[in-house]
Amino acid sequence: MMMLTRKMIEIRGLLQTVGQSESLTLPSIVVIGSQSSGKSSVLEAIVGHEFLPKGHNMVTRRPIELTLVHTPDASAEYGEFPALGLNKVTDFGQIQKTLTDLNLAVPAEDCVSDDPIQLRIHSPNVPDLSLIDLPGYIQVVGRDQPPQLKEKIAELCEKYIKPPNVILAISAADVDLANSTALRASRKVDPRGERTIGVITKMDLVDAERGASLLSDRKYALRLGYVGVVCRVPSNASGSKLFSRGNGNITNAIAKNENAYFGSHPEFSPDSQLAVGTPNLKKKLMYVLEQTMAASLKTTSEAIQRELAEATYEYKVQYNERPLSAESYLAESLDAFKHSFRGFSDTFGRSEVRELLKHELDQQVLNLLAQRYWNRPFEDLSPPLPETDPLSSLAKADPEGENEIWQIKLDSSSAALTKLGVGRLATSVVANAIQAHIDRLVANSRFAAHPFARQAISEASTSILKDLSYDIADELEICIKPYKYRIELEDNEWARGRENVAAVLKDELKVCEAAAKRLEDQVGGRKKVRDVMAFIDRVRSGQVVLEGDGVGGAGGFSSALLAKGREAVFLRDRTDVLKMRLLAVKSKQCANKKNKYHCPEVFLDAVADKLTTTADLFLDAELLSKFYYNFPRELDARLGRGLSQNEIDRFAREDPKIRRHLDVVRRKDLLETVLKEMESLRQLEAREKRSSRRE
Ligand code: GDP
Repeated sequence: MMMLTRKMIEIRGLLQTVGQSESLTLPSIVVIGSQSSGKSSVLEAIVGHEFLPKGHNMVTRRPIELTLVHTPDASAEYGEFPALGLNKVTDFGQIQKTLTDLNLAVPAEDCVSDDPIQLRIHSPNVPDLSLIDLPGYIQVVGRDQPPQLKEKIAELCEKYIKPPNVILAISAADVDLANSTALRASRKVDPRGERTIGVITKMDLVDAERGASLLSDRKYALRLGYVGVVCRVPSNASGSKLFSRGNGNITNAIAKNENAYFGSHPEFSPDSQLAVGTPNLKKKLMYVLEQTMAASLKTTSEAIQRELAEATYEYKVQYNERPLSAESYLAESLDAFKHSFRGFSDTFGRSEVRELLKHELDQQVLNLLAQRYWNRPFEDLSPPLPETDPLSSLAKADPEGENEIWQIKLDSSSAALTKLGVGRLATSVVANAIQAHIDRLVANSRFAAHPFARQAISEASTSILKDLSYDIADELEICIKPYKYRIELEDNEWARGRENVAAVLKDELKVCEAAAKRLEDQVGGRKKVRDVMAFIDRVRSGQVVLEGDGVGGAGGFSSALLAKGREAVFLRDRTDVLKMRLLAVKSKQCANKKNKYHCPEVFLDAVADKLTTTADLFLDAELLSKFYYNFPRELDARLGRGLSQNEIDRFAREDPKIRRHLDVVRRKDLLETVLKEMESLRQLEAREKRSSRRE
């Protein structure tokens, strides 16, 4: 019959994973007793190890669902906390510590929690059993304990001692049975004593005659009877530190102790028909559990069939029988994402990189031109120094380009452009663009609803881009090195530069005009802006002399308005310069590269173009193709193979719609599995009956 209990316990475990329905369970043995009745000692004697939390004021705060699994392998003794993913804990001291931590994690104001801790213990010394250890009843609430603790514990126990569970009521021999809280509680729910096993502990503390009379108690007669035990670990056995750490097996020590005690008192001789000793208790528990479980198989199986019918209906109606698992959902999502990534990689190639880079370098060229050629030297309200006005000088420049100043100016501008760190700049511009694209792809994918996956993808791309960028930036810098020393331009390169820079200048002109318009709107009209600009012009030309520094306002204008005015003057001057330079670029003079010193815009644009060509070729080969190769593989590593089952489940369940769908599928599958198991159990039962009849 051993196999039957094992199977039923397995089914009980399966049912626990299905859900909270009360009818969907098989009975277990519920252990109750008041504090210090010896409840922990009994459980530890059954398991053969010290593993329960002990210590001053250590109240068990959560039920422990203890599943004992008999293993024939004599050397394998270990515990498992399936809900925590803790497997094969061979150190029972560690199990004790984990249980203590789980207990302490219940907030003190909650007193106790009815969320059970699941613990499985595999050992050759335990029978197949399913036990639930509940917090011990307390008589008096300690000073540092919440006042409701006593009732909360009683309520929790009441919930568990309902039928069809078997009650293991622990009472100490040295306390009057009439005062036993455990027996009182069990009598309330099992008045005829049909599903209660009485355990009398500490038999060694009363004289044998009294002990024997307790075991044949008539006042509260139990059909399943009383068992007397002496479960204290003898001090000479547990005295060695090994036991207190919970690692040694105490089965033999207890058996020896019990044999010595019960053997020396004729009151407990086999003739007495009294049940004594832990081994007898174990046998009784196995027998009673198996009988009780077998008796409730039929009703449980009917309940499962009802639940299954409901789940199947929901699956059909709500989900059109579409199968789904966390793995398949993840795999499909990942495939779809990789597909969209391939789509992106097809459209983002060398010419897109080129456009990005050229735009970036155009801006750099504009900045250089502004710094070195266009900006009039006024940053404040001080009057100008006419001889350094570069515009007038540029306009009057020597047509043959012999003016040394202009030569130096252009050479230094070109050097500034080639030496501004194009390697790093271009690499980071492209890497940032790729990252932004990936972020957009994620936002438009199923992963958008999954913070965990979003982060994994974002980390995958940033880490690859970071790794690649480091070397690529340096190598690209080396590629453009020749341009730092000499730049030769072909006629067609010059012509292209001239055409391109005209477009850039036009765009910039539009930007300036739009900014000026915005400024007008902010200040409150064109007239107001004109007035303040006129004032600033008068200051600049020296017609008005400012008193102080103008910080507190001047000429009837507030300092904020003056600041806006300065911006407006800047924009107007920039617009004038741009218009003028556009004319210059378009002029015949700038059609010829010989006149490059008068046409710095064209020359610098052509240089930027050369840099771009080198960079786009290099980045296409090094950054894009390597990223396109590595990224899908990194995705697989982070979201495919690399994930544990738990992580995959967590991922899929982040999306509430998917979670509901998964729950229905899972419930249906589990119920089907349980039913199948039940069917095989019935066959096993029938076989065992046949063979026992033959014997
Ligand atoms: P719990 O609070 O009900 O879990 O009780 P424990 O198992 O922690 O036991 C309370 C105390 O009684 C401990 O000091 C045990 O050593 C002691 N004890 C438990 N069983 C026996 C026993 O059979 N005989 C004797 N003499 N002491 C016992």
